[in-house]
Amino acid sequence: MAVDFDVAIIGAGPSGSTCALALQGKGLKVALIDKEAFPRDKICGDAIPGSAFKAISRLRSTWGDQMKAFTHGLAITSIAIFFSKRNVIRYTWKLFSYNSKRIDFDHFLFQLVKKETNTHILEHKQLQQVTATPDYCQCLFSDGSSIHASVVVGCDGAYSVVKRNLIDSEQPDSLAVTAIRAYYKGIKGIQAGCNEAHLIKEVQGYFWIFPLRDGWANVGFGLFKNKNRKDRAPVNLRTLLEEITQSPAFADRFKDATVEGKVNGFSLPIWTRQRSVSGHRFLLCGDAASLIDPLQGHGIDLGMWSGVMAAEQIGQCFTENDFSSHRMKAYDRALHQKFGPELSRNYFLMRLFLRFPILLRVISKFYFPKGIINWLFVKLKL
Ligand SMILES: Cc1cc2nc3c(=O)[nH]c(=O)nc-3n(C[C@H](O)[C@H](O)[C@H](O)COP(=O)(O)OP(=O)(O)OC[C@H]3O[C@@H](n4cnc5c(N)ncnc54)[C@H](O)[C@@H]3O)c2cc1C
Repeated sequence: MAVDFDVAIIGAGPSGSTCALALQGKGLKVALIDKEAFPRDKICGDAIPGSAFKAISRLRSTWGDQMKAFTHGLAITSIAIFFSKRNVIRYTWKLFSYNSKRIDFDHFLFQLVKKETNTHILEHKQLQQVTATPDYCQCLFSDGSSIHASVVVGCDGAYSVVKRNLIDSEQPDSLAVTAIRAYYKGIKGIQAGCNEAHLIKEVQGYFWIFPLRDGWANVGFGLFKNKNRKDRAPVNLRTLLEEITQSPAFADRFKDATVEGKVNGFSLPIWTRQRSVSGHRFLLCGDAASLIDPLQGHGIDLGMWSGVMAAEQIGQCFTENDFSSHRMKAYDRALHQKFGPELSRNYFLMRLFLRFPILLRVISKFYFPKGIINWLFVKLKL
């Protein structure tokens, strides 16, 4: 049977759009498919990590330049991690990075795909089911339509249909992270170019204030949930966020601030172990492959890198006309080689700090000169 597309990328977030950009020039007929129409929002902290710029620049330096020159970004050069009001660690970096509302950032990447590639764009098309046959993959959509593609790339986020349909039964993780995000205007005491993370020890989570352009700030709260523990009462993140902003530590800063738009929650499929992210005629990228750093919660950069690496793998599969799961496993290995050691180490640290929160308090009590903090962050690639 003749296929409609060589490659069908499901999901046009950072992973999917980057994969489409990376496939440009390989002589393949590519479709980029999303259930939403762009621009669309995505619940996130909106901190675009420096490594995301490296991923796009690797494809084409002018794309990296355009991403840097993007006018909705607010340059960020440091983070302040508060263990209490007085105990704070500050880290300053040199790698270019900014904060940008995802509705703008993702739209920028999506427009880049439209302008710079021959990708076929299909919006408002929700994948309902995907099946892999020996010769092609069939994608069925909620509007009743279907397409056939030689390869499917699952970039469809945390609740990936591609993953659910094509990965053989997976053990669910016992640890889950959920987070809530609100946009505020008029918070006092925001330092230029500095993201704030406040560890709230009473609830095993952290509260962030990430500044954005024009006096806006992305404010959120993330919580680790041990699914195996039945003794915890369910937590309402919205209520908790309100309690934090009205607590004595923050009340004055939020006194005249206003919430803009809806306050929404979403889950973070953090990396917990090496898992299968490919198979016969398919690959997974970004959140669909659980590529979120477990310690810091960033996933935009990892998603974009996986999009680049998936495109390299697909190019090789077409050259060799081999789409077997055996051939695809080279992608799993490459991903693990690039990110596995760092993510494993951060998962270990995250569990250590969750188990013994006192460690963080002890660390924060010491005075570390700025040079040592920066050296440590660079060495640990935090
Ligand atoms: C509260 C929160 C805060 C975060 N903060 C940060 C941060 O500050 N920095 C950072 O780097 N990361 C952060 N992350 C993680 C980051 O948001 C993700 O890692 C990143 O969005 C992954 O990109 P993606 O392209 O893989 O998936 P997504 O961005 O989720 O994109 C998936 C796309 O697939 C589409 N889709 C889904 N299902 C279907 C379907 N069935 N059919 C068709 N299309 C479909 C969706 O519409 C969407 O456009 C945060 C996450 C959360 C939840």
